[in-house]
Parts: sequence; structure tokens; C-alpha cells
Amino acid sequence: MDAICRLPAPHLNARRFGARSLPALTDDALFETVGVRVAFTGREGGVSASPFASLNLGDHVGDDARAVDRNRALLLEALGADRLPLVVPSQVHGDAVVDVGDAAPEVVEAARAQARAGADAVAVAVPGVAALLCFADCLPVVIVSPTGRFAVVHAGWRGVVGGIATKVVRLMAERDAEEVGERAEGGFNVYVGPHICSRCFETGEDVRARFVERFGEAVCPDERHIDLFDALRRDLLDVGIVSERIVHASACTKCESEKYYSFRAEGGVCGRHGAVAFREV
Ligand SMILES: [Zn+2]
Repeated sequence: MDAICRLPAPHLNARRFGARSLPALTDDALFETVGVRVAFTGREGGVSASPFASLNLGDHVGDDARAVDRNRALLLEALGADRLPLVVPSQVHGDAVVDVGDAAPEVVEAARAQARAGADAVAVAVPGVAALLCFADCLPVVIVSPTGRFAVVHAGWRGVVGGIATKVVRLMAERDAEEVGERAEGGFNVYVGPHICSRCFETGEDVRARFVERFGEAVCPDERHIDLFDALRRDLLDVGIVSERIVHASACTKCESEKYYSFRAEGGVCGRHGAVAFREV
């Protein structure tokens, strides 16, 4: 099928973007192949003051709204996407997915309204629309199809147990099949950005029991900790994602709270780093 190319093996490389040298993890080979830019940001490069310093992208954490707007603009500018409309959901630890099928202004505006009402994933089928989700310990997930379709997903422990990432994979595979006549999840790339590590993610018996019931004891290294990435990975393999096409940043947000925002390390008062993706026009 001509419409489906083969994505390069996923890889996250650290890079600096734009005049302000904004640091992010990205996959340059992916961008060169299908024009999809994936970026996981950190704390550096923005204008927010302490305790949100400096590239806080979350508008619900108590930071100055003008600083957050400026940070989002700086990020898009650094990535060469400053002319693109941005969809940013109000994240609610649910499983609603905003499905953006067209870059027409009225379609994007409807998607933004749906996003504001509460959603934890944005799937985009077309060039020219950017999606941003915000994080402080939870798993940032970006999924890319060989057709150029992509999605940005927020998976905290509720999202991992609820299977939001696999719901998005199924949706993307169905949309690909409608568009080009075949499903392509075996060729999807999945990128997981910086998130809390299994040694830092300590939890109570009730949450642990839910993980054991859903994924088995193997995702719990001991009685108090859970490996969220391992649980997510198992789920992705179950819906046809290939192991070699899942890559994750080796950084832990809590262990490295000088580089990333960490809800747990900072007692709940902190900014949010971002996972952003778009396909260039
Ligand atoms: Zn850690």
C-alpha cells in the first residue's frame, strides 16, 4: 500500500531547539521521514518564576497565566510550529480522546472545545495541528502511525489501569484502515517520555491490588511499588504494538526533579513539562 511507509526505529535524542536553545527529547529521524515532530520538554527554557521555573506549560497549577501562554508560544516557536493551532486538553485522568480529523478552523475549534471539557488524549490525522499535554510524574505517551497520524496521551496510574493508550492505538488503527485500507499498528512507533520510575512510585495496597489484578504480580517489584511503564508496555503489546517500536526516556521525573517537574518530589506545588507533537504542513 503506497500510503503506508515504514517508520524508522524509534529513538529519543536530546537536542536544543530555536534561538533560546530550548532543550527537549525528540526523534529527528522520524521528523525527516514523515514530518512528525515529537518533543518532550523539561524545566529549562521558559519565563515562569519559582516554584514553576521555568518552562511551565500547565495553566491549572497556580502559575501566572501570561507566563504559561508565553512558555507555550516559546515552545512552538522553537519547534518551528508557531503558526499552528494548538489543542491542549483539560486532563482529568479519564479516557476521553479528542479525535482531530481535519485542520479546518471550525474543526479545530470544535476539538478545542471538546478538549477543554476534559480529555486525556488528542489524536490528529492531518498536518498543521499541534497537540500538547502536560505532566509531572505521569507517563507522557506519543503514538505515531506510518500514515503520519499521531496522538499524544496522558497516562497516570488511572490511565494505565484504564488502558487509555491502547484505546488510542485501536482508534488510530481503525482510522488508518478507513483511510488507506489497512491497519498498521504493527508499524506504529510509541514514545514514552520522562516519568516517575518504579523505585519512586510508591503506592497503597488498593492501587497495587488493581495493578496485580489487571497485569499480574510482575509489574510490582515489591509490596509497595509499581512499574507503570512495564504495565503500559504489556498492554501495548497486547494490541499489536511491536516491542522494538516502543522507546522510553530513561529519565525519572522524581529522581531528576531539577530537570523535570515532579508532583511527588515537590509536594504537589509545581509546574508541568510537556509532550507535544505535530506534523509539518
Ligand atoms: Zn525515580
